[in-house]
Amino acid sequence: MPSESRQGGNTPGTFRVLVVDDSPSIRRHVVQKLEPMSFHVTEASSGEEALALTLEQTFDLVVSDIEMEAITGVQLCRVFRGDPGMKDIAFVLLTAAKEAKTRFWGRNAGADCYLAKEDMDEKLLPAVEELMRGRTPRDSVRPELTGTPLERVSAVLDHHLFDVVVQSEVRRLMDHVHDRIEFGDKVLELAAEVIGCPYLVLHLLGPGGPTYSIRARGPWPEGNATAGMAALAIPEKSVDATHTTVEADPKYGTGQNVVGGRSFTCEIRVRDEPLGALQVFGGPNVCAETDIRSVNLIADALGVVVKSLFLMEETQLLALTDGLTGLYNRRHASKRLEEEIARARRNSTGLCVAMCDVDHFKAINDEFGHSAGDHVLQGIANSLTEYVRRNDIVSRWGGEEFLVIFSEIKLTAARIVAERLRGRLASTPQVEGGPEKISVSIGLAMLRQGVTADALIEQADQALYRAKARGRNRVEVAGEERRSKPSTVVQKQDGGKQKPADAKQADTK
Ligand code: GH3
Ligand code: MG
Ligand code: MG
Repeated sequence: MPSESRQGGNTPGTFRVLVVDDSPSIRRHVVQKLEPMSFHVTEASSGEEALALTLEQTFDLVVSDIEMEAITGVQLCRVFRGDPGMKDIAFVLLTAAKEAKTRFWGRNAGADCYLAKEDMDEKLLPAVEELMRGRTPRDSVRPELTGTPLERVSAVLDHHLFDVVVQSEVRRLMDHVHDRIEFGDKVLELAAEVIGCPYLVLHLLGPGGPTYSIRARGPWPEGNATAGMAALAIPEKSVDATHTTVEADPKYGTGQNVVGGRSFTCEIRVRDEPLGALQVFGGPNVCAETDIRSVNLIADALGVVVKSLFLMEETQLLALTDGLTGLYNRRHASKRLEEEIARARRNSTGLCVAMCDVDHFKAINDEFGHSAGDHVLQGIANSLTEYVRRNDIVSRWGGEEFLVIFSEIKLTAARIVAERLRGRLASTPQVEGGPEKISVSIGLAMLRQGVTADALIEQADQALYRAKARGRNRVEVAGEERRSKPSTVVQKQDGGKQKPADAKQADTK
């Protein structure tokens, strides 16, 4: 039977303490040590008894032995921590064992304080004083988990196990951080399995984003994905499947709940850094409190994993891009060109490359300084990126040379595009302290049968040289040498290729 004692009377403002130990003499010793605190003390001789008492009384503090028969102090502590009605109760674990293993599990159970019994005389009172400082006695709050003590222990351990399994599954997503699309799919696959919700959206920010990954297991409420996603405030243009990753606005769409039931958003963050969000649009009968808890659990655990994805993307981006302009570098552009050529051949579509070179750039550097020159290059990079279609590839090929790969295009169209591009680059906004006017020359080449990537670049280069030789600020097309009369003499070179002997000197500087 539990025994109760009052230290200084049980006034309404008195803290209530539960002392749990299977040894009556140690219980007495603990109670004695706590005397100066004037607690209202209840004693229990086992974990079972302690748990039964929590169904009848409210406590502010538990001081429990760690090693007891049946329910141990660690398990008891876990039940307190795992029950929303009791999780704020202060908990002190006492042990005779000095073993690191016991200490580890004691700390791990979530106790506020862990003390060796041999240190109790000296440390218990100061520790409890510290723990109770700033607290006020709790109102009558009952545990949420009911049933027999063993049922309550097993329910809490079950929850704990569930959490650990979900967290470890989320951590396994690390295997997919090299590929954002695959990663998004895997996250939503996991979330869908855990909560059984049909409509899920993952928003990711970071170097590779912002993007949405979308998963809809059921049919969209209005019968098609486009309508469904528009309803979820996801840009319609980006939708062509029910399970896809697309570009998105960095702000998460609030989304109207078109599917009935509840919808909610859990932010994904690492410390204060927002990384994205996991959004759930529940149909009827889903999105209960437990689902919200599970999605929060997944979102929490996702923080470090998503951060790894972003770091991986950043590293990849650094390896692929040029530091000054942010465009793809030559190495990556060469690789993409090979891929695009293979794709064009497979699909029998046209492909053109445009080599763009700033005219008299050395003079710009000489007159306005290297830094102004850098800004001109950045301005050109921006103009290029803004101008081309999404699928076209823009890169910084060399110092003041830019390569654009136009896919799925015919030569007639490419010629018009390149001519417009030249005009557009010539009107690149002026750089402060830089030249009033700039111009570029462009060499355009179309992929023909049997031509390799290197040969295609060579053709574009030759056309560029011709554009320089013929006065700059113009577009020349490979294979059309005889169409317009050169303004300078072009010498025949070995192998029948035509290249101006010195295009740079044969200009109109
Ligand atoms: P052309 O019209 O014949 O192309 O003449 P150009 O002066 O543009 O060509 P040239 O090849 O003689 O000079 C290119 C200059 O570009 C030389 C080089 O110092 C400069 N350059 C290369 N990379 C950078 C860079 O990152 N920043 C700056 N400011 N200048 C660069
Ligand atoms: Mg140049
Ligand atoms: Mg050049």
